[in-house]
Amino acid sequence: MPAASLIPTEVSGVGVLNSAFEAVVDALRSSLLGFAEPEDTQAFHVPPVISRALLERLGYVDAFPNLLGTLHTFVGDNRRWRAIQAARLADGAPWHSEQTISDVVALPATCYHLYPLVADQTLAQPVTMTAEASCYRHEGSSELGRLRSFRMREIVRIGGPDGVPAWRDEWLARARTWFDGLGLKVSVETATDPFFGDAARMMAPRQRQEELKWELRADLGTGQAQAIASANYHKDHFGGLFDIRMDGGVAHTACAAFGLERIVLALIAAHGESPARWPASVRGSLALGGTAK
Ligand code: AMP
Ligand code: ZN
Repeated sequence: MPAASLIPTEVSGVGVLNSAFEAVVDALRSSLLGFAEPEDTQAFHVPPVISRALLERLGYVDAFPNLLGTLHTFVGDNRRWRAIQAARLADGAPWHSEQTISDVVALPATCYHLYPLVADQTLAQPVTMTAEASCYRHEGSSELGRLRSFRMREIVRIGGPDGVPAWRDEWLARARTWFDGLGLKVSVETATDPFFGDAARMMAPRQRQEELKWELRADLGTGQAQAIASANYHKDHFGGLFDIRMDGGVAHTACAAFGLERIVLALIAAHGESPARWPASVRGSLALGGTAK
């Protein structure tokens, strides 16, 4: 098996993965689904774009305007396009000066596709859902592991205010044990989302005080630890926005999010770039097969 590689492209933060890298991603996915299955988890396939209006309603635009990738298209007619092309040929005018924002944006986190699936419902019991998506974030830097396009596997829990925080804590512990078994040295820390501008002042202190977000961080070989997973408790934020009810009140939600490329990069940093030579215990945990050389 060749070295697992993330091959850079001409734009920063966008990489192509070779099959050895992708084989590890497949193994991580199976392992995570194995944890999720006993919880009667419903699995979905979700697209890499989402309703712009939905993200506006969720407050994503206010909190992370810098990270959101918008999609613009040309909606003019033939005549207009001919004029644009002519100006482009004549004096190098940009082809995209008349692009119009569309009704979809690039998906910034997988779980935004899952809450609407139970909108306007009263749940008889907690619901667990999972999906994986290619996410896009317009990151301002592009050190190793900080991608603009990356995959995020999420497991989401929707239930009552008593059970949901405990579920979040359980997944945090589960992730920690899983990473231990993969030979990754991980630190577990409370964190805040990277709110932009004034949103940081308004949102971050509460998130930190109430320990709503936890990150599991590992060194990807740069000497600086990066989050490879997070476990988040949103209280009644999404339950309220989507009118999901349980136990006579608004449902609470939590999600556990795993950055698949980052986990592979952490494994490479810890064990080398050739998965066939990773310790037998790690290959065994991931059912990667093959023998160590
Ligand atoms: P978050 O919603 O920020 O907690 O992200 C969930 C997980 O997605 C993180 O713990 C990372 O593993 C992964 N992730 C987030 N941003 C990036 C990025 N720019 N590049 C690669 N992975 C990322
Ligand atoms: Zn989430």
